[in-house]
Amino acid sequence: MMKTRIVYSEKCLGYGTWHIEGPQRVKGAHEILRAKGYEFVEPTPASDYEILSVHDADYLFNVKKGLAEDSDTPAYKDIFEFAQLSVGGALLASKINGFSLMRPPGHHVGRYGAALGAYTRGFCYLNNIAIAVKESKKRTLILDIDGHHGNGTQEIFQGDDKVVYLSLHQSSNYPGTGYFTEGNCINYALPINLGGKHYLETLDKALGMVDLTKFEAVAVSAGFDTHQGDLATLGLVEQDYFDIGKRVAKLKKPAFFVLEGGYVGEKVGLDIDRFLKGYEENL
Ligand SMILES: [Zn+2]
Repeated sequence: MMKTRIVYSEKCLGYGTWHIEGPQRVKGAHEILRAKGYEFVEPTPASDYEILSVHDADYLFNVKKGLAEDSDTPAYKDIFEFAQLSVGGALLASKINGFSLMRPPGHHVGRYGAALGAYTRGFCYLNNIAIAVKESKKRTLILDIDGHHGNGTQEIFQGDDKVVYLSLHQSSNYPGTGYFTEGNCINYALPINLGGKHYLETLDKALGMVDLTKFEAVAVSAGFDTHQGDLATLGLVEQDYFDIGKRVAKLKKPAFFVLEGGYVGEKVGLDIDRFLKGYEENL
């Protein structure tokens, strides 16, 4: 059985120790996955050319110069280099069908910054998964299982006939978008602490709406803040991530995975392991 490789560089731990989107969440996950015997590969930074496939040139300039800042998303020193390496992680994951365990996350940031009327970028600087999907040039189903709606990803791909964006997320939470399905963007806004059974029923229903013959690849915005007690909880537990991974395998398409949220380090590591086991054992 193939084992999904984890894309990781410890350089991603170098900023934001005081922030909830801090290094500990990824450091803890890395330690658990290393102990479980996963193989790791190092990303290289994305180029401007790749980033500009999704982002506006003025926005990129502002991130580089430390001029893009909001109350959730500080202009840390050298944040562009961290963001550029995180995009590189997603690009490598798409090439090797791996799992990018990098930060900062990306799904809240749109072409010009804050997306669809959200007032912050929600800890995101560059939209990692969107850039990886654009650069792959493949017809892709993006499945966003983070507990928050990926407003940036929706904004970027709204009306794009090569992509369907499908998100299950908690209602009444940041960024206050994703309440309705709009064209190629299918949204399920779900109640807090919904629980695994109803979550998986909803996921089955949602995937059932998608014409899989249209797609060459699946990209998963893999957030784990739906875990019980986490920032956008839907009351999921470890076993539920196994069952989600299994459903991704059943789509029978080449897949890759990009970390989004999930704020309790040890839980994130265990959830990723269960998710990947569910995926690999059902390929
Ligand atoms: Zn989230």
